[in-house]
Amino acid sequence: MFRMNIKGLIPRHMEERGLLVLRDNLKYIEDILDHRRIPEKGIDEDKIRLLLKFLSLMDTDKDPKAIRVGEREGRWVSRIQEELVSGFCHGIGRSGSLIDPQPKAPGASAMYSLTNSILTSFLRNLGLKVYGVGLPVATGLSLSLCLNALRRMYNSNVAIYPYAAHKSPIKGIYLAGFKMRLVETKLYGDSVQVDVGDIEDAILQEIDIGNNPCVVSTLTFFPPRESDHIEEIAKICEEYNIPHVINGAYALQSRYYIERLRRAFKYRVDAVVSSSDKNLLTPIGGGIVYSKNRDFLREISLSYPGRACATPVVNILVSLLTLGMRGYLKLMEEQRGCRDLLEKLLNDLAEKTGGKVLNINNPISLSITVHSDPVEIAGKLYNLRVTGPRGVRSTDKFATCYLHGYPYNYIVISASLGVKEEDIIAVVEKLENILLDR
Ligand SMILES: *Cc1c(COP(=O)(O)O)cnc(C)c1O
Repeated sequence: MFRMNIKGLIPRHMEERGLLVLRDNLKYIEDILDHRRIPEKGIDEDKIRLLLKFLSLMDTDKDPKAIRVGEREGRWVSRIQEELVSGFCHGIGRSGSLIDPQPKAPGASAMYSLTNSILTSFLRNLGLKVYGVGLPVATGLSLSLCLNALRRMYNSNVAIYPYAAHKSPIKGIYLAGFKMRLVETKLYGDSVQVDVGDIEDAILQEIDIGNNPCVVSTLTFFPPRESDHIEEIAKICEEYNIPHVINGAYALQSRYYIERLRRAFKYRVDAVVSSSDKNLLTPIGGGIVYSKNRDFLREISLSYPGRACATPVVNILVSLLTLGMRGYLKLMEEQRGCRDLLEKLLNDLAEKTGGKVLNINNPISLSITVHSDPVEIAGKLYNLRVTGPRGVRSTDKFATCYLHGYPYNYIVISASLGVKEEDIIAVVEKLENILLDR
């Protein structure tokens, strides 16, 4: 297709050498398009840029001979705008379906399909036998789209929500037009959990009054709220034929969560929702949904109203190609190391302050109890230019559990994917200075 005619411009042996180097560089891009899987080793930015350029040059807004008279022709006034979308000015999707090819944008459509294929291979490499789709919206909205798909497929109208105090999923449930039925948390020692029997009762009651319930469970949360027992919930959902969506906002970064997902996927799990920024270190704005059922992903796509900006999807593609499988596994390993370090340092600190590290199963976050106002402590950390930690008062119903108070004031700190060891050390140091009033 592309002829690199440099004949006669330079000596013959140099010409051959030049073409050889060029061919080997282009081979990276050919391989991505041929294999459509996450590369073992990450690919450098120049090659990713070139791939995006090739793809975006296929869209009709780049056609030098096009006659463009529609009300939407991928126009822009500033090159800045074109750069912000990596050249995919037409966005992705058709008005009726997000994943369907857009006739004005062959390149963007191929880019989206390629991204989903690479994403699927990534999920499979992690051990999840699923299909994945990248969405141009974050976790809460992705969850909303999943629920919409459930309504289309099963007439679901009530979401049973084992209470987890994050506003995004709660708002996502309401936005989808579902009624929400909370199942309250209970205290088991330090740990805040939702009893699986209570979830089963809620399902039976909703069926009894003629509703079509589904369950939205939560896998990733900060302590003392433990993960829902997703495997048990999936079993119950299978037994009663009830759809089940899991909020796994940051599940992909941890072996512990992935293993739990693997076990749950043996029973009824319609889809899992994860965040592209928390798991793939993209800028905020994308979601990842995965399911064993391709038809379900198609229904999500049909739920999306209109076309979408391509950038969140491009971000997913760029992360997967940049990291490669090896790079991602290395990040996971570093995360685990940081999590262990955080636990050690917090235990040392607890000994000095007379607090304790809450005894909660969590592969990412830890909570340490404090004797003074935790909100004030978190405020002080913020002023010391630390971002991330949360201070939660024992009386804070929203943050801990729905009906009960909690025995402790505490500070939550997370060692999430991408965190650096020196930051773990620095935050505990600063917290120590605050707690010991130095
Ligand atoms: C981060 C997180 C979300 C995020 O929702 P967004 O819509 O991506 O902001 C939702 N639920 C949980 C449990 C989270 O940790």
